[in-house]
Amino acid sequence: MVRNPDSRGAISLQDIWRALDDVVDPEIPVVSLVEMGIIRDVMEVGGRIVVKMTPTFAGCPALEVMESDIRARLEKMGIDLVDVVRALDPPWTSDWISESARRKIKQIGLAPPQVHGGDFINVLDAPVTCPYCDSFNTTLKNSFGSTPCRMIYYCNNCSQPFEQFRPL
Ligand SMILES: [Zn+2]
Repeated sequence: MVRNPDSRGAISLQDIWRALDDVVDPEIPVVSLVEMGIIRDVMEVGGRIVVKMTPTFAGCPALEVMESDIRARLEKMGIDLVDVVRALDPPWTSDWISESARRKIKQIGLAPPQVHGGDFINVLDAPVTCPYCDSFNTTLKNSFGSTPCRMIYYCNNCSQPFEQFRPL
């Protein structure tokens, strides 16, 4: 429990998780950092709130934005003593993207990454479903899309090009 300076009572870690679910991924603003599995843990250590995050790609320029958005959201709850720490081991995997985030990603025309459970090589050959018509009849056009974490596909069924979030 953390004391709220507004004296509205104690804030639980669960309240903090809920608040952090408002912080969106700067790369894909329809999903939150919690849904993306980027925020790994929230704990209280010696009166400070420690937020552990694992970025999707190390050295990603959005990191600074994510950190300041996390701080800003918690400050709104009256929590000023915040440490945002980066945890790089184990590295982020696209398997951590929640079901709700996968649905939202698909709604913006971005195919969600296949769940691979660590069997990464097999999934690269697995068919990618078109986010528009759900057809498996798709072809990889370019392994590099608008960002390094996206690949460009073409749907042979609805003749629509689309990007896939690269499985990682
Ligand atoms: Zn299609």
